[in-house]
Amino acid sequence: MTTIILKQGRDHTVLRHHPWIFSGGIGRKDGTEPASGETVTVQDCEGAVLGLGAWSPTSQIRIRMWTFGEGGAVDGAFFEERIAAALAARAALPSNRLETDALRLVNAESDGLPGLVVDRYGDFLICQFTAAGVDRWKDEIVAALQKLHPCQGIYERSDLDVREREGLQLTVGVLAGDEPPACVEIHENGCKYGVDVKQGHKTGFYLDQRDNRAIVAGFAAGRDVLNAFSYTGGFGIAAQRAGAASIMHVDLSAASLELARANVERNGLDAAKAEFAEGNVFEVLRKFRDARRSFDLVVLDPPKFVESKGHLMAAARGYKDINLLGLKLLRPGGILATFSCSGLMPAELFQKIVTDAACDARRDVQLLQRLEQAPDHAESLSFPEGLYLKGLLCRVK
Ligand code: SAH
Repeated sequence: MTTIILKQGRDHTVLRHHPWIFSGGIGRKDGTEPASGETVTVQDCEGAVLGLGAWSPTSQIRIRMWTFGEGGAVDGAFFEERIAAALAARAALPSNRLETDALRLVNAESDGLPGLVVDRYGDFLICQFTAAGVDRWKDEIVAALQKLHPCQGIYERSDLDVREREGLQLTVGVLAGDEPPACVEIHENGCKYGVDVKQGHKTGFYLDQRDNRAIVAGFAAGRDVLNAFSYTGGFGIAAQRAGAASIMHVDLSAASLELARANVERNGLDAAKAEFAEGNVFEVLRKFRDARRSFDLVVLDPPKFVESKGHLMAAARGYKDINLLGLKLLRPGGILATFSCSGLMPAELFQKIVTDAACDARRDVQLLQRLEQAPDHAESLSFPEGLYLKGLLCRVK
């Protein structure tokens, strides 16, 4: 096995069990040039072993650590053990958190499996392999999943651009068992959702918002709800089921709104209370403002605006704009649930942006609760990048 010796001073983060080593930290190699995803031994500049990692020859993140310290091996048994630990962690969540048949079973770096996501949707597992290391061990990972979590089928959704940075092709298809149908029905907090696991966003559904959908639904009874960036209905379905007076779903994607409409029906909800506006939220909300429309509950759950650090300021303007509009549309006493799923957006900056929006909207706003991704998407404390979803639940006076 090739040994990679880090430059002086580049061992600190590894000693704190951060799994990423950037190309700039690599000193020299002892051995042959490792192949994509091959396991390497990592040492500090004085030869002390820091652990084993996976080599990513084309990525800025050149090594992702599998183990820390001396010893250990990366083989089929290693993956079985890590996956078993991830499943045990999900099984140990309080039962009220598990009243669903759709959840994240393996959350990549945060479960000690950098680059591997496994989401369960009913009787199907959907996997994403986003790094060279897990891609190389795909067969062993699929075998471990089949053994530890028997299911009807395992399907791959490795159609993410990040794979290109790893020098990997975009790949989708059946890994084991049956191919999932076009629509898999899942259950979450008493709601049913149809999920397109083969073509939907991410692995099909925003599982990370599960708890937040339930929290927001708690405020929905009797209210007029604006569900902006609705995707397949998520927050709006939960709100309508909780007794909302009306729901206005807004999304750019006609296909997503079609699924949202089907989800209203699937839950036996009154179709007359649900409206669907296909369009750009920035424009639709301006039109609502100009038409003096108002709501009691506004959900803003935009896609990731910050793709890289250089985009932060432009993204900040986008967040400010929608929050300003959202706040203006709220009636007195109304609730705003506003989110950023950009890992590169610091929580403090996001709060400042919403505060600035409140100032500009001339609304006094109380923060009721800070929101995060659901605990099946837990982040490891040694990997702060794992926290990406931030939300503020606010009440306007
Ligand atoms: N809240 C949803 C997830 C939202 S994902 C849930 O709980 O399931 C973000 C959505 O925003 C996607 O459906 C995408 O189509 C939509 N979107 C992205 N940019 C948009 C824009 N400018 N206007 C309207 N919708 C947009």
